[in-house]
Amino acid sequence: MDNSATAKKCHMLKIVVAKLKRKYGANLRTSLDASSPWELLVATMLSAQSQDKQVNVVTKDLFKKYHSVEDYASISPKQLYSQIGSLGLYKNKAKNIVASAKAIVNNFNSQVPQSMDELILLPGVGRKTANVVLYNAFHIREGIAIDTHCITVSGRLKITRSSRPEVIESDLMKLLPKKEWGEITHLFIALGRDTCTAKRKLCARCTLKNICPSSDCK
Ligand code: SF4
Repeated sequence: MDNSATAKKCHMLKIVVAKLKRKYGANLRTSLDASSPWELLVATMLSAQSQDKQVNVVTKDLFKKYHSVEDYASISPKQLYSQIGSLGLYKNKAKNIVASAKAIVNNFNSQVPQSMDELILLPGVGRKTANVVLYNAFHIREGIAIDTHCITVSGRLKITRSSRPEVIESDLMKLLPKKEWGEITHLFIALGRDTCTAKRKLCARCTLKNICPSSDCK
């Protein structure tokens, strides 16, 4: 990308962020329910290919039964099956949650680590989960969490040519000031849920309709 193309995208993104904050509010956070960094890590791991609403239903009871990271480290994955069985990939999720709990107890003094390098060492934790936990639990911005809504919206805004999350994250990090790295995820998720969905784009009612390169209303 040449300098003028980059400058144009930076300018457009600045307007996009301002418009989305006006529509959806500033300081947006994850809609996953959690009362500690560990619970947020569990909820985020459970949210892979599941809706946040479904995860919140499951964790309402799960977090009443198991509290600390030590609780999860002391059970077998099978003991989680009945609690999380309504979610997709639950066997894999149970295995990773218990293995991550053991790793945190053994290697991190029972504290959820606060860096990308350490978080992605945990079983089943990739950059997206790590970014969600870092921003929402610790207010740390090391990268940008990219989910399916972020992929759809970034593509339609032509911020990136890639559909690979790690490339989109890198492209966005180059274009956005670091102070926006946490919120942009949740702003794109809000837009992707109600207006710019993967299946259809409702450009006529979109707050970005006058600046989006994929808008049907220009
Ligand atoms: S204008 Fe249309 S394509 Fe662009 S972000 Fe809005 S809904 Fe999506």
